[in-house]
Amino acid sequence: MTSHLTSLASTAYAKAANQPDLKGPSFADAELAVNNSNFIKTYDVLVGDKGRAHLMPKRGIAVICCMDARLDPNAMLGLEVGDAHIIRNGGGRAADALRSLIGSQEALQTREIIVIHHEDCGFSHASTTVVQKALKARTPLSAHPFVDAVSLQEFSDPRESVQEDVAFLREHPLVHPDSKISGWVYRVSNGELLRAC
Ligand SMILES: [Zn+2]
Repeated sequence: MTSHLTSLASTAYAKAANQPDLKGPSFADAELAVNNSNFIKTYDVLVGDKGRAHLMPKRGIAVICCMDARLDPNAMLGLEVGDAHIIRNGGGRAADALRSLIGSQEALQTREIIVIHHEDCGFSHASTTVVQKALKARTPLSAHPFVDAVSLQEFSDPRESVQEDVAFLREHPLVHPDSKISGWVYRVSNGELLRAC
């Protein structure tokens, strides 16, 4: 446990001032049901027919984006519920998104791919080596082969990593040849999207 905390303290995550309270009741137990009942009351206004439409994305777009809690992909792109598939993972890495992307293209006819990485990404502060060390400290030896297989696919420059991922998609034999693919870097400081490729 100590080595786990030490390894986390060595990363940028330790600087966060908005640490969650992990000792209280879970969100699922304390708030979720009330929040959802409020959502149901506003569903017709906030979602309505866009949520009841056919499941095929209206704009034919698949967005690959980081899971970062500060990013709101539909809002930054001016898209609405029903317009696009939003495929999210740590870093917004294309290789990790491939299973969903293939389903999006083959089953639901999306043909434009927008890849978004961002400044101050957790996966640019992260280290596979540090995480593997923390995992090994809290798991039995039998789990260590799984730990050795872990890769965070971390990166240092989001412009370079998004260019890498767009090249990966353009060259991938399973990505539809008619795909229009672009790569963007999102600035968390002001919401700007800068085109990288
Ligand atoms: Zn990120």
